[in-house]
Amino acid sequence: MKCGAVIVAAGRGERLKSQKPKAFVALGDSPLFQYSLDVFLTHPKISEIVLVVPAEEAASFSNPHYKTVKGGKTRQESVRCGLAALSPDCEAVLVHDAARPFVNAAILDRLIMSLVQKKSCIAAWPVSDTLKASQEGVITHTIDRSSLWAAQTPQAFPTAILKKALEKAAKENFVGTDDASLVERLGEKVYLVMGDAKNIKITTPEDLALATSLLKKS
Ligand code: C5P
Repeated sequence: MKCGAVIVAAGRGERLKSQKPKAFVALGDSPLFQYSLDVFLTHPKISEIVLVVPAEEAASFSNPHYKTVKGGKTRQESVRCGLAALSPDCEAVLVHDAARPFVNAAILDRLIMSLVQKKSCIAAWPVSDTLKASQEGVITHTIDRSSLWAAQTPQAFPTAILKKALEKAAKENFVGTDDASLVERLGEKVYLVMGDAKNIKITTPEDLALATSLLKKS
């Protein structure tokens, strides 16, 4: 099975309050996107990588080990752009947010094991906080968290299924917050595999500070 990867790094990252697009902000000595890119580049089962970047950054990339394409207005559009650039013989694809720099090879292994059996799957982590629903600042009820998982990336699919899901979403003007939600809309099963508590998404300056201290410890 030939397995490709699409790493989306084309977001603005307004909540990070940085001049640079989020994935290009420095974490330690490298731009944020470099960390997850390296994990995919060194994984033996990933045959091809497409890095999706903001239009103004696309010209500055020339690398024989991965392709670079321009992203779109939404994450979903960026995933579409990346998928369109993937070789047609990639039967399976892992989609990853460059904003999660601490993805690791073990997570990729778990996802690929499931993909080999043609199963769509996502990295996820069990919710540990007690969750409250509220109205106007007052708790209406406590949500049973025993079946709840926080979705992470990578999310992995047979390529044809993800393409179909993206086409259906585009036709119906549906915008999801992750890729699995589009595949779920096809009625396809999407399995959970263990992500990692450290596989955090960088959204705010506080997340970046946390990532910097995690990097120093590792
Ligand atoms: O904004 P958010 O944190 O949800 O973005 C998740 C990932 O999607 C980030 O890595 C970001 O660079 C990417 N993205 C993208 N194109 C967009 C918006 C987000 O590639 N238009």
